[in-house]
Amino acid sequence: MSLPVSMEDTELFPKGAKSLDLTPGKEYDPVAIKEMLTSLSPLWWSRLLISTRGFTINLLPTNDEMTLFTVDDAYTAMHSRLVAQPSSPDSEERRAEREKFISHIYTIAHFPSVSTVLAELSRGVQSENVSPFAHPTAGEAFTTVFGAPNEATYRIADGQKHAYLVFSRTLSRLQARWAVEKGKKKIRFETDPEWQPDNRVVLFEELFRGNRTWVLLDFDRHILRFWRPRGASIIFGDRFVEKKKREGLRLCDICGMLEQGREQFKALAGFVLCSPECAQEAAETVK
Ligand SMILES: [Zn+2]
Repeated sequence: MSLPVSMEDTELFPKGAKSLDLTPGKEYDPVAIKEMLTSLSPLWWSRLLISTRGFTINLLPTNDEMTLFTVDDAYTAMHSRLVAQPSSPDSEERRAEREKFISHIYTIAHFPSVSTVLAELSRGVQSENVSPFAHPTAGEAFTTVFGAPNEATYRIADGQKHAYLVFSRTLSRLQARWAVEKGKKKIRFETDPEWQPDNRVVLFEELFRGNRTWVLLDFDRHILRFWRPRGASIIFGDRFVEKKKREGLRLCDICGMLEQGREQFKALAGFVLCSPECAQEAAETVK
């Protein structure tokens, strides 16, 4: 079974949007989710999160670093909890945990006026309605996903909602498609060269004209670590990485990070190394 999706899918990732739509996903079908978690590979789920996260962070207000970092954390948490380790066998128990986590995301997404409620909580506004964190049926989802209720958690939740609400909407559309399209086409998220991520996959910063740099956030580091040493290909696609290699750019021998400019990484004892951390690790393997 398969599910065709790609970055060119403008229903999932509309181009030209100026701001982030926080309308939550409505469709939640536990049976479809179970099938998708069983049938779709770790690479499919990883690239779904990579593209949804890129789409989200590129539509956040540029001057709001606090929200950027909390959204990045949310996607790192989702990746940790939803993507199976590609190198080790999966278990029924782990799949059940993933199903549970997705059900929590939808409990949050379906909470009445959740975006407003979280914004008010983070500003310390007392509502006459019961707090979602203390709600008899929704409370568990809020505390599992965001943490124990306190002022810091409320601020984090108000930032992270951008990640969870956008992801819920993307996943809702995919669930609806799963019912009608399974088995028809290939899974484009995991076939190269159909995976050709554009600017919306990572955050770029242009310090001056012509100098565009990939802003490496914790989520990117998480992906590089999770898939190492293939991380750069997972994020950018085999074709892109091959092209960069032909242009003379290298990968770090330890973590798989791609150079952004020629001779950016140091060569040491036969290794190409991106950072002091990777140099340290290389030194330990040589000993
Ligand atoms: Zn490295």
